Amino acid sequence: MPTDSLISTDVARAAELLREGQLVAIATETVYGLGANALDERAVARVFEVKNRPHFDPLIVHIADRQWLDRLVTSVPDAARQLADAFWPGPLTLVLPKSDIVPDLVTSGLPCVAIRMPSHPQALELLRKVDLPIAAPSANPFGQISPTTAEHVAETLGDGVDLILDDGPCSIGVESTVVGFDDGKPCILRHGGLTQEEIERVVGPVTSRQNPASGPAESPGMLPQHYAPRTPLAMVEPSDLSADSTLRKSLAGRRVGLLLLEPSPAAESFDAVEVLTTDGNLRDAAAAFFAALRRLDVTDVDQILALPFPDEGLGRALNDRLRRACH
Ligand code: AMP
Ligand code: MG
Repeated sequence: MPTDSLISTDVARAAELLREGQLVAIATETVYGLGANALDERAVARVFEVKNRPHFDPLIVHIADRQWLDRLVTSVPDAARQLADAFWPGPLTLVLPKSDIVPDLVTSGLPCVAIRMPSHPQALELLRKVDLPIAAPSANPFGQISPTTAEHVAETLGDGVDLILDDGPCSIGVESTVVGFDDGKPCILRHGGLTQEEIERVVGPVTSRQNPASGPAESPGMLPQHYAPRTPLAMVEPSDLSADSTLRKSLAGRRVGLLLLEPSPAAESFDAVEVLTTDGNLRDAAAAFFAALRRLDVTDVDQILALPFPDEGLGRALNDRLRRACH
């Protein structure tokens, strides 16, 4: 794979390519995105093609300038403005009624468009240089593990992209928090890099929409299966980890990997172990999460086990990704 020429730090070149309708993978503080001019339907169509992403899964549009918000949406509820004031630039995506300039392909035909202003300096520099809104879903094949380095993008999308703008590992490591509005009231559609607690400090209690148990998901980041390794992954309880548990006995003869938040003696009886932190810090865990999952996936294990994270702060986003990685 000619990754040397594909991976670059040339922001001006990236901007030029995007203006020409090409695809550029970009570093952001959440995960690497596969960027295209959001106003160019042909470029956006290629994003779906390269990712093998179903057309019912809408894209997030990235901007560096609030003026673009006013051009892309028709109304902004007070709570959305408060959230943007508090958390933009940052890992917050707002879903708002779209204006006519947003192609239907970007929103999968939905009346609302998802918009985010990233805080990553290189991404902001690029967005300012292009001076266009950039649609950018995570730069990975649909349903697979999200990329947190330029190399991850090159490994899975390779020649499908025209350039990969490299700026090292992503600092947050999980996707943005997606917030929609019901009659002006904020509702978390996907947990992510901005915690529910942070949001509630600004706008008070918010609801969060869980996956429907059956039937179509309302918003596709809410698909029950997503962010998944190839190796089967199961979420288990601490008691399942001991070598003489019913679960472990049922896996006898199979190689088992373990994903852990912090060091534990239970890790000793596994064939491969990824420990995300030394002290259980959830920010560090999020930053390490997808890369660790990727390493477990390429080691020769038949099954990955993971314990749920504490259900608070970034633990909510991590549990959400784990649940969707189960299969
Ligand atoms: P990704 O680009 O892989 O981070 O995924 C983007 C996610 O943002 C989608 O899968 C949805 O969950 C959410 N999203 C994007 N646009 C919309 C929209 N118009 N309405 C609701 N959710 C959206
Ligand atoms: Mg994605």
